Amino acid sequence: MKCLNCDTEFEGNFCPECGQSAKTGRFTMKFILQNLTTAILGRDGGVWFTLKNLFSRPGAMIVEILSGKRKKYFSPFPMLFLALTLYILVTSATTGFMLQEAFSQSDTVFTEESEEIDSQSIEVYHLLKNTVFFFINHYTLCFLLTLPLFVIAARACYGRDNRKKYYWAEYIITIVYALVIVVLFRCLTKLTYLFDHDLALSLGFTLAPLVMIVACTACSRKMLGFSIAKTAWRSFLLVLLYSLMLFGLLLIGAILFALIVLNGKGDINIQLG
Ligand SMILES: [Zn+2]
Repeated sequence: MKCLNCDTEFEGNFCPECGQSAKTGRFTMKFILQNLTTAILGRDGGVWFTLKNLFSRPGAMIVEILSGKRKKYFSPFPMLFLALTLYILVTSATTGFMLQEAFSQSDTVFTEESEEIDSQSIEVYHLLKNTVFFFINHYTLCFLLTLPLFVIAARACYGRDNRKKYYWAEYIITIVYALVIVVLFRCLTKLTYLFDHDLALSLGFTLAPLVMIVACTACSRKMLGFSIAKTAWRSFLLVLLYSLMLFGLLLIGAILFALIVLNGKGDINIQLG
């Protein structure tokens, strides 16, 4: 028969060139439902099966994937996108209120009617507030954009004296799976907002770095061949290095922004003067 995907003539159940099934017919509701349930609940490459392994034996799972057991597990990047989608769904209900609450006290201090505070400070305050809002509202985007920083930090902290010389791409696979754990945990902390507002705020700030260290340690220990303590220490350095790079970038951004804005303001003042 002829493969409907690549036109190769073949005999058997699968095309030897592209791997498409010989039984590909028209789309039916049954097919779509089956496809969806195997993608989520199926044993071979299913989301649920992969998540179960990621949480119960992350290190072993990643070693298996790096050494070639690929079809068995759901791919890392689609997994991260799924986790981020869940995060967006969870936060769409809570983040707005959380932010308003976090800023409510300082909002009453920095109002236009306040006489003790000059207009420039109020302007700076609003700029700061809007920046924070931007980052939190675009968390997923910022998160994905800083992924290279995370990989650079992983390469720098895990690269020395490990079991074998890993490629950059192999660090990316490990880091992306670790970040799936981090994002899912963030979803959980956001959900605590429904029960306890203060708890959710403090969990978000204090536990986030800790979870990153634990997730990176769990995912990378087996592939690196280090002891738990050594992996945890390197993972701590990784998160520290990542935070420092992030902070440095934000600082550079803030300085550039301030230079541009203040320069603009200066011109206006001179013109008015
Ligand atoms: Zn084919």
